[in-house]
Amino acid sequence: VTPLDLDAIRADFPLLAQEVNGHPLAYLDSAATSQKPQQVIDAEVEFLTHTNAAVHRGAHTLAAESTDAFEDARDAVAAFVGAGEGELVWTSGATAGINLIAYAIGNATLGRGGPAARRFALHPDDEIVLTESEHHANLIPWQELAARTGARLRHIPVLDDGQLDMAAATELIGDRTRIVAFPHVSNVLGIINPIDDLVALARGVDAITVMDACQSVPHLSIDLPATGVDFAVFSGHKMLGPYGIGGLYGKHELLNALPPFLTGGSMITTVTLDEAQYLPSPQRFEAGTQPVSQAVGLAAAARYLRSLGMDAVHAHEVDLERRMRDGLSEIPGIRLLGDTDAAPRVGLASFAVEGVHAHDVGQFLDSRGVAVRVGHHCAQPLHRRFGLTASVRASASVYTTPDEVDRFLDATRGVRAFFGAS
Ligand code: PMP
Repeated sequence: VTPLDLDAIRADFPLLAQEVNGHPLAYLDSAATSQKPQQVIDAEVEFLTHTNAAVHRGAHTLAAESTDAFEDARDAVAAFVGAGEGELVWTSGATAGINLIAYAIGNATLGRGGPAARRFALHPDDEIVLTESEHHANLIPWQELAARTGARLRHIPVLDDGQLDMAAATELIGDRTRIVAFPHVSNVLGIINPIDDLVALARGVDAITVMDACQSVPHLSIDLPATGVDFAVFSGHKMLGPYGIGGLYGKHELLNALPPFLTGGSMITTVTLDEAQYLPSPQRFEAGTQPVSQAVGLAAAARYLRSLGMDAVHAHEVDLERRMRDGLSEIPGIRLLGDTDAAPRVGLASFAVEGVHAHDVGQFLDSRGVAVRVGHHCAQPLHRRFGLTASVRASASVYTTPDEVDRFLDATRGVRAFFGAS
């Protein structure tokens, strides 16, 4: 793969060329949200300046042009993840996508959606299998669904080195399993999970698979249909795109069998005072006014990533991750989470500093211009698994430089002395 041209990329991200607290910024918080290249900002501004009108309505020229821009954006983002016709639903983000699936399954359980939706209905004692490493977005919607339906949650444990306990998964996924939901990549550990094995186990018992692809779609070449998962979600703002938009991928036939979650305008064929008929996917899940300019921006982000080449993006970020982990392992008093070379990874590293709270580490690094994420990263159970309440996470994106990683490592070397921890 051709290495990324970092100088050219950095020129597309003016935000990165600023000083913070008297130091050049080292933005190492891309797993929380990525920066946006000028191409994405321009695409949104251009659309809002010249094209904007309500989509899928109205006979006027701008409405038609906006509809084209909106649907072209869907095609571009669908192509980026390999989704086919009708297989990419816009949501406001990954959280909304997972809630959509969970609430739609709840509706199927209540008998909504007719015979086609019966396959999704849950019964008391059915099981929903998750992992111990979920982001709360892929945990709480399933807790709520379980509470509403009487289904039970089971959790695939995480091993000491951060990998999923696949022997336990083989035991847990059985005849009662109806749904298996998992992260492609944990937002804390950065490990790429063995999704082929998880999908095979789920398929073996006819369970539905739901993949949280938030931390993989921005960083890996990924063809969602080829993974075999039934549903997957991702967020625009983590893949160089705008806030307020994300994607829900689903197999076409499954999406069309699933009853809607949100209902209202733009998702129907006919409505009477007593009932309504719904459009096929994606419209059946897109009630109300959609994030149109954000879709246009997200398509620009997908084109930007595609132009860099996702294999080159991954190679670049993995190099940075190696640099972070190697550097961190040499610093006394640092405990890395998921520190294994036995699994493939993306460009992030989480760690705890002995004797110093993660928030203090974060403030110390910020005072040196280094931006990292601190806290539980919306993964409290995973932190509890490692006996922690918080950790520090440094994460890379296409624009991250080795020099930024080195400045982060230099600053981190000074943390324990500064706080008098020894
Ligand atoms: N899952 C994972 C693994 C994440 O990292 C995030 C974002 N922190 C989410 C889900 C939720 O994404 P959003 O807040 O954009 O809906």
